[in-house]
Amino acid sequence: MTSRRAFTEKQIIIASHNAGKVREIRELLAPFGVSVSSAGDQNLPEPEETGETFVENAVIKARAAATAANCPALADDSGLCVDVLGGAPGIFSARWAGPDKDFGMAMDKIKEAAADFETCKAHFVCALSLCWPDGHVENFEGTVHGQLNWPARGDQGFGYDPIFVPDGHLETFAEMDPAQKHAMSHRADAFNQMVAACFQST
Ligand code: IMP
Repeated sequence: MTSRRAFTEKQIIIASHNAGKVREIRELLAPFGVSVSSAGDQNLPEPEETGETFVENAVIKARAAATAANCPALADDSGLCVDVLGGAPGIFSARWAGPDKDFGMAMDKIKEAAADFETCKAHFVCALSLCWPDGHVENFEGTVHGQLNWPARGDQGFGYDPIFVPDGHLETFAEMDPAQKHAMSHRADAFNQMVAACFQST
């Protein structure tokens, strides 16, 4: 097994301008005694996501923030992959919502595209990239499987949460309280792998 670099610094930047993601990652980082700021708080520019995979895009964002702020940075690139749509929207999940970030419209697009199918299996993926200012990077990928369900239900969470029902549950992610989502989400899966490899709780 390859050895991972331990995270021993006291500060980290969440390399994201997405308020929902930043909130969830802040909550997940809370037990580790690290001072957390976000790329949004620091007005860091948003790099273009030119990668072809979740991991490639996470690395682009983490490197850009770590270099600009000279501080370790954690980036999340994530999305919803729908089986009958060949994995779409996938890495284009945010872009399906358009410049107005209209996820009602994005969820309608999925409903329309998958209209011919009775059940709609899907999974969320989350790639986390932890990057140090010297360029060293550690990557992790988490998933959660489930089914899509209409009409959209619930007002917790963000993005596609109102149509995603994780396997073994009846509620959508948007109907669960945040702690329940954190116990099973793709982000929590990637996060737990990162903690086991690089973090020690204080
Ligand atoms: P990006 O990683 O910034 O390209 O954006 C990922 C997009 O995927 C988000 O804007 C959401 O639409 C969607 N997404 C990622 N994680 C979640 C989640 O936990 N719940 C709902 N939607 C998510």
